[in-house]
Amino acid sequence: MRLDDARALLDHDGNVTLPPPEASSTAYLQAMIDGLCELSLKDPLTGLANRRHFRAVVERSIDVVARSGEPALLLMLDIDHFKKVNDTYGHQAGDQVLQAIAKALSGCVRPMDTVARFGGEEFSVMLPSCHTGFGAAVAERIRAHVEAMSIPIAPGLSIKVTVSIGGAFAPEWVRSTATLWTERADMQLYRAKADGRNRIYLDQQQEIYVSAEEKNLLFGHLALGEPAWIESVSSEAPVGNAGSAMQRVF
Ligand code: GH3
Ligand code: MG
Ligand code: MG
Repeated sequence: MRLDDARALLDHDGNVTLPPPEASSTAYLQAMIDGLCELSLKDPLTGLANRRHFRAVVERSIDVVARSGEPALLLMLDIDHFKKVNDTYGHQAGDQVLQAIAKALSGCVRPMDTVARFGGEEFSVMLPSCHTGFGAAVAERIRAHVEAMSIPIAPGLSIKVTVSIGGAFAPEWVRSTATLWTERADMQLYRAKADGRNRIYLDQQQEIYVSAEEKNLLFGHLALGEPAWIESVSSEAPVGNAGSAMQRVF
């Protein structure tokens, strides 16, 4: 990429202030590199973290959970019947809905949480230091907030959408992988869709389930038999009251 093209990209984004071209070439290049790095982590439509950035956040969270034992929650969200929005009101209206949902999600979480556009009409949220009751309450806050929104897509025309949410808590002390953790949340999202949409399923890890792959990650190097205590440890985390529309998996 030519320097002029890079500068044009960053000027277009508008979030990076580059030094004037007459500044020292090192300062100019450093600012350009910082700006491009930041841009490469963002989804251009919504300004949220993109999938690549989110993956790095999940990997970092796995390290923190393994080190500190603090629980963390990964949420996957998918807009319900979004294709109908595009088909009925056009792709641009669909884009406006995606932007409105992105803004709403960011407003429902703490500054320390990461909201990402995972792809298409799918979003993901990483909540570090998140106990069971709190996680359930945040997921319900998001679901109810989106349900209550009226999203303006043209003068005098607003529409409503809902989201389905699946979530998985990181098992404390178990070192997992970003893919396995995401798959667990995705499995719950799939169940939420299959059971009628506009609902939440959370893998509470009441009984800590360790997949064969995770066991291998944990104990493979020790080549021991299966430890008897793994599947019988139960979580003592309280279950929060997150509203009547909430569905849970135990
Ligand atoms: P479900 O409730 O099962 O999730 O149904 P759905 O219609 O939301 O799911 P489906 O996967 O059939 O459709 C997703 C749609 O999202 C199809 C695709 O055109 C649209 N989409 C993906 N990315 C974008 C985008 O950036 N902008 C717009 N406007 N639409 C998008
Ligand atoms: Mg989808
Ligand atoms: Mg969808």
